[in-house]
Amino acid sequence: MMQEQLNAVVLPNENGFFGAHGGKIDHPGLAVAMAEIEAGFRSIIGDADFIAEMKRLQQTYVGRPSPLYHAKTLSQRGAQIYLKREDLNHTGAHKINHCIGEALLAKKLGKKKVIAETGAGQHGVALATAAALVGLECEIHMGVVDMAKEHPNVARMKILGAKLVPVSAGAGTLKEAVDSAFGAYLQDLQHSMFAIGSVVGPAPYPELVAYFQSIVGHEARAQFQSQYGGLPDEVVACVGGGSNALGLFNAFIDDSAVALVGVEPAGEGLDTQRHAATLTLGKPGVIQGFHCYYLQDENGNPAAVHSIASGLDYPGVGPQHCHLKDIGRARYETATDAETLAAFLTLSREEGIIPALESAHAIAYALRRAAQLDGSQRLLVNLSGRGDKDIDFAIEQLKL
Ligand SMILES: *Cc1c(COP(=O)(O)O)cnc(C)c1O
Repeated sequence: MMQEQLNAVVLPNENGFFGAHGGKIDHPGLAVAMAEIEAGFRSIIGDADFIAEMKRLQQTYVGRPSPLYHAKTLSQRGAQIYLKREDLNHTGAHKINHCIGEALLAKKLGKKKVIAETGAGQHGVALATAAALVGLECEIHMGVVDMAKEHPNVARMKILGAKLVPVSAGAGTLKEAVDSAFGAYLQDLQHSMFAIGSVVGPAPYPELVAYFQSIVGHEARAQFQSQYGGLPDEVVACVGGGSNALGLFNAFIDDSAVALVGVEPAGEGLDTQRHAATLTLGKPGVIQGFHCYYLQDENGNPAAVHSIASGLDYPGVGPQHCHLKDIGRARYETATDAETLAAFLTLSREEGIIPALESAHAIAYALRRAAQLDGSQRLLVNLSGRGDKDIDFAIEQLKL
């Protein structure tokens, strides 16, 4: 097991900024709560007992280390393609990595409950799982429109013992659910902890989530060296809020010969309003308590965004990615809905692995890129989750 550690390039300054992005919340009540979470986080990451407990759960509960797999059939296009199999984690995606960290932290702070919002339900399920594991109450706020769409995840959260709060305000989706969850958290700051689902939000969340996700890159780098020798030419991951990508990138930041490539959803096309390519087309500003690039409407408000993968359907993005883009250390590419569906089917049929539609964005880029390179070049792709949740949608879309 690797020791989690963040590269200095993706660590915040004392004001929570990564270059021009990030920052702390200026709401007085919440600022106190954020400071408590930050102090708790600093204390646990230096605590040998906490680290030992986290390692034990990563190994015996999540199933870490996740394998690194050489996809030989995919690789016939040109470059060699290797997959970091986060889809094989318990609950089927990388989100469990930070949810266990957040649940252990809440427990350490003496909280009784974790509160969060969820869009498609992936974060809600992972958090409900971690809460059940460590013995915490779990309250998940979810838009009524999303609840109707994501029935299996609603059922999972209920079975796991979470309390679901339907949110019918506004469009009944993620944005309203965030407001509702924050409202509930403000009512009970003493006994509860807000548990965010990606490297977004005010300090300390981007750092905290990145820390718990950095296991992905530490493992992948060591596995690559021992299984195949040397380092990959590119490491690739899809970017929604940015947690699985940052978890992978972090370990490679000092390897200047390794390109870091994030893949954003181009939806129905970058020339339409129907995409969520935040780093590619967003403008800088403050959204939900932190500064980042975000997609804006004509009034500077967060734009309505679209992706075939609901986990990538967010108008903002983590501040560390904004900083990596600004300093030119990472590059951000896109894949459309159509390319993503094709890649979903290709990985399923050529390798027998059904990917999450989110992860299929990274695969789509890798297939395109591999064909431009030769067999001596190596691409390491984060397969952030499995596609069981997407099968009904996929057979309908692909008319199978
Ligand atoms: C939520 C999710 C994502 C997007 O979140 P990031 O924070 O950008 O990683 C990607 N893949 C899967 C499988 C997800 O569930």
